[in-house]
Amino acid sequence: MNSRTEQPIALISVHGDPAIEIGKEEAGGQNVYVRQVGEALAQRGWQVDMFTRKVSAEQDTIVQHSPNCRTIRLQAGSLDFVPRDNLFGYLPEFVENFLAFQTENSITYPLVHTNYWLSSWVGMQLKKIQGSKQVHTYHSLGAVKYNTINSIPLIASTRLAVEKEVLETAERIVATSPQEKEHMRSLVSTKGNVDIIPCGTDIKQFGCIDRQAARVQLGLDTEDKVVFYVGRFDPRKGIETLVRAVGQSQFRGNKNLKLIIGGGSRPGHSDGIERERIEKIVAELGISDFTTFTGRLSQEILPSYYAAADVCVVPSHYEPFGLVAIEAMASYTPVVASDVGGLQFTVVPEETGLLAPPQDVDAFAIAIDRIISSQQWRDQLGQGARTRVETKFSWDGVASQLSELYTQLLHPKVEEKEPALMSS
Ligand code: UDP
Repeated sequence: MNSRTEQPIALISVHGDPAIEIGKEEAGGQNVYVRQVGEALAQRGWQVDMFTRKVSAEQDTIVQHSPNCRTIRLQAGSLDFVPRDNLFGYLPEFVENFLAFQTENSITYPLVHTNYWLSSWVGMQLKKIQGSKQVHTYHSLGAVKYNTINSIPLIASTRLAVEKEVLETAERIVATSPQEKEHMRSLVSTKGNVDIIPCGTDIKQFGCIDRQAARVQLGLDTEDKVVFYVGRFDPRKGIETLVRAVGQSQFRGNKNLKLIIGGGSRPGHSDGIERERIEKIVAELGISDFTTFTGRLSQEILPSYYAAADVCVVPSHYEPFGLVAIEAMASYTPVVASDVGGLQFTVVPEETGLLAPPQDVDAFAIAIDRIISSQQWRDQLGQGARTRVETKFSWDGVASQLSELYTQLLHPKVEEKEPALMSS
């Protein structure tokens, strides 16, 4: 029996609901991270409550995932979807409703793990009001992101100030890669405590089906050369670079080439606009006949897509971590990714895939071509990719490190006596 049993902790993810379907309307890596971390921590004996914003009256207020893990939806502003850049003004109400929930349920969370800068503000208030210890994961850093986009949103200065304050005041910041830590230090502040604990993936789910079986399931031929992208439709994801790369001359004569682009939601939402833009470029390039837009792919079907692919491409302009890369790698599929952020940590060039400068269409085309041209090398890279994920990026390993960190913060002395709990 350990001292953590049923100790309540709050994971706060205001804009990234851990209980909703992933792959649409801003739902991506953060939602997956919070849900997976929450469930894995609950299995290790923590009582995990994951707080998010309720976005419609139809949504359940509480979703019970497992005996010790639930999502709790608090009202903040109207019961509508609000893009993350417009959410800051609703946060005081979120804090009020968090406190009301605690009172109604006779719980005071001694530790809150906040996700993204919006939630970090909530955590800082809880720290001031009731002394909760704060652990924070950024998921994206304004200081890096604003260097990669053309129009800076109005909220930028507030975000940058909040990101600096939380770095300097939280008990611990979790950087998901050495690159992210370096960005914090060089662009945000040299003060504050930062630990590196990567994101993880489900190594049983991804990698559970082989390439041939996956191709049969998806109606793809053995000879097809499958280039795969999955993720949100956001200009920062660089899908344009991928389609322009595949539109290059070296692929023109390849009758077996298939480009599969997964993710996205319905038209009228912001990712719908980006999807329409990409579809237009695909049509202009004349590659529509071998390009498929699948729409959102469920986590259940995704392992088959990754396994069926010869190469998975992650062409982001900026990527703090990039779960898609490790999901593909866990599925024995090499990755061609932008040479940025967390992708420099997960993808090892010539061993698990290749890196190319972001937005460099020619470099992406060359890298993709190298991998799809040699089945043997593709398999070798795929095996290297799987091994890297198994050793470094399983959710269980990640949860074990987070659990160790929480224990250290909550019971500084007890922790020294419990070394056996720290390994998974
Ligand atoms: N995803 C999904 N279905 C989709 C598109 C994306 O399940 O149609 C998942 C994908 O498997 C990954 C996450 O969304 O787990 C995206 O995370 P990543 O870190 O790559 O990007 P982010 O969305 O955080 O920018």
